[in-house]
Amino acid sequence: MIGEIISVGDELTSGQRLDTNSQYLSQQLADLGIQVRHHVTVGDVLSDNVAVFQLAASRADVVIISGGLGPTADDLTREAMAEAFSLPLEHREEAMQHILKLFKTRGREMPERNRVQALFPQTSRIIPNPHGTAPGIDLEVTRQGNKCRLFALPGVPAEMIQMLAETVVPRLTEEMGLGKTRWFYHCIKLFGLGESDVEKIIPDLIARDRIPRVGITVSKATITLRVAAECSSNEEFRKLITPTLVQIHNAFEEHIFAEGERELQDVIHEILSTKSKSLSVTELGSGCWIGSMLADDFHFSSSTGLVHHEWLPRFPPVGRENQGVAEIEEIARRSLQAHGTDYALVAGVYPTSSSLLECDGLPTVSFQISVARKGGEVTTISPTISGHPELFFQRLAKTALNTLRKEMLRG
Ligand code: AMP
Ligand code: MG
Repeated sequence: MIGEIISVGDELTSGQRLDTNSQYLSQQLADLGIQVRHHVTVGDVLSDNVAVFQLAASRADVVIISGGLGPTADDLTREAMAEAFSLPLEHREEAMQHILKLFKTRGREMPERNRVQALFPQTSRIIPNPHGTAPGIDLEVTRQGNKCRLFALPGVPAEMIQMLAETVVPRLTEEMGLGKTRWFYHCIKLFGLGESDVEKIIPDLIARDRIPRVGITVSKATITLRVAAECSSNEEFRKLITPTLVQIHNAFEEHIFAEGERELQDVIHEILSTKSKSLSVTELGSGCWIGSMLADDFHFSSSTGLVHHEWLPRFPPVGRENQGVAEIEEIARRSLQAHGTDYALVAGVYPTSSSLLECDGLPTVSFQISVARKGGEVTTISPTISGHPELFFQRLAKTALNTLRKEMLRG
């Protein structure tokens, strides 16, 4: 089943209000096995509304429209539905009585303008709106040989959510037989590779017609592989995706840091608590990025693993130029001893002339990251990070946490 979501309103197309209804509606439709292929946002212009309703009706099985059902002149959904499918509007006394009752309970006279809310395109059904004056419209049409069910709901999120749950979902399940399957998702998170590297390694898995489907998204250098399929139960989904998960694990091995919605800092937290290990962190010269990532989950106490966090605005004075690695390793060893932890993570920008480079005109920063472990062993890497300057330090923090993760998993 193919779905389409249409959001109506100038406040949305002008960017003054965020369209949150589309996200909610797509998630709800996915739970009924409907694959939403389009989100369309359209302003309060009649001809534009007519065009998008006709297009949606020609390519989707289920269309949910939100907005434009109010009583004012800029609310055009009902006129647009009538015009799009050549169905004259007719008065429905049942809807009128509900609107009159609402005004009566509020102790107000109904403005004449609200009468339009009792108008419905011929052949459509009412979707009751228990708390609002804008009833919804349920209309089945055939457009260019495609049978389509359109549900128009008010834009007010609370009313839209209630009407979807109380009337639209029951009609979709009972009358259209939906809900026997739904879309299931499983996420795998990777760090340390680029988006196109990932695609190059598993081109056959990314193929669009594959079942289960594998999609790649990237956010602040974290790559998420989203494995998705339409199934009737979680057990069926697990069975279906197992070979794909094995392929992904074989392809990416230690680049994978988590499954599900967890982030790098959650994984660090888990390893520390399951292995009963402790950590101290020192950030040098680059801000408090690692601390702020860990602080969501950590209290600074031995029971949660992170026993000490320190930020120094710059590297402590050093003897000679280009002693960055020796210096940072020494800081890591001292931190380990001073706080008696199992691991010490130190990360920063070493202040040499080469730490701020220009590479083909693009800003590039050289960082140092050291992990010291109980017993004295120290691992240091010096990654060079480029990209948008606003993301440098986030990347540094994630690279540092990922280095720590790998060290902790070594035992
Ligand atoms: P309407 O049904 O078009 O009169 O919309 C009523 C109110 O609901 C608007 O003023 C918005 O504040 C809100 N609204 C409408 N559409 C959306 C949407 N897609 N997402 C979030 N809020 C919305
Ligand atoms: Mg509106």
